Amino acid sequence: MNTFAGVDLHGRTALITGGGRGIGAATAFELARSGAVVALAARNEASVVDVARRLREKGYTAFAFRCDVTDTRQVRDLALSATEAMGRVDILVNNAGTASSNPLARISLQEWNHIMEVNATGTFLCTQAVFDQMVEHGWGRVVNVASIAGLEGGRYIAAYAAAKHAVVGFTRSVAAEADGTGVTVNAVCPGYVDTPLTDETIARIMRRTGISWHDAMRGVLETSGQSRLIRAEEVAEVILSLCAEEAGATNGQAIVLDGKDTP
Ligand code: NAD
Repeated sequence: MNTFAGVDLHGRTALITGGGRGIGAATAFELARSGAVVALAARNEASVVDVARRLREKGYTAFAFRCDVTDTRQVRDLALSATEAMGRVDILVNNAGTASSNPLARISLQEWNHIMEVNATGTFLCTQAVFDQMVEHGWGRVVNVASIAGLEGGRYIAAYAAAKHAVVGFTRSVAAEADGTGVTVNAVCPGYVDTPLTDETIARIMRRTGISWHDAMRGVLETSGQSRLIRAEEVAEVILSLCAEEAGATNGQAIVLDGKDTP
């Protein structure tokens, strides 16, 4: 059941970064189903082209763009192309992200910089690229996909947690700037979600420790205190709810999906 079936986004346009798979692709379907025209961007162009094609097959309007969110010029071009294709950008979902896990002693500067750039700098660049047009229009929704790791730390995730804490701090600060403009800026903070990113995390643990998939998954869920993986669609529904007309009074919040419920 779609618990947010009442959200009507007809007449709205949405730009979703990292829309080629996982939470980004699920969000594209959720927003399109609610009536929004969507534009998807990712480093891997084939993946967003494929998601856009599947959306169009269902009768939705969807565009796909290649963009590395860490590259200032590509982000500027993305904002221009998405605005040209859709008329304007009403909703921005900063979903592109990447993770790593390593004990502090093994985190290279290159790994640290990469994790910070994709998760934090990418969110900053994309928001900066469309924020003014939202304010000028008097309506906008920015939803940043942070993580539980944006609110608390954990073993071996110092780089990822630092980057996601940066995303939450950025969210709260830009929300303060947006106050009273009709634009809201919020973050969603899920625990482990059933996506290719989590598949990669499990594979990394198996590779390093030699334990089975089952034990690696049990360890991950125990560490995060989750009873199960969260579905990408569940995150997408919370993102959708923050994009609703009725969500105008929710600004600067970090909404937690802790996955502690029963299946
Ligand atoms: P995913 O790896 O399945 O998808 C990530 C998407 O981001 C892909 O489309 C990829 O192409 C894109 N991307 C990566 N680097 C990029 C870059 N530099 N420029 C443009 N696009 C880029 O991941 P997911 O699990 O769907 O995660 C989406 C977001 O949710 C991320 O920000 C992630 O940190 C966050 N998150 C994930 C989980 C989880 O357990 N999977 C939990 C909490 C938060």
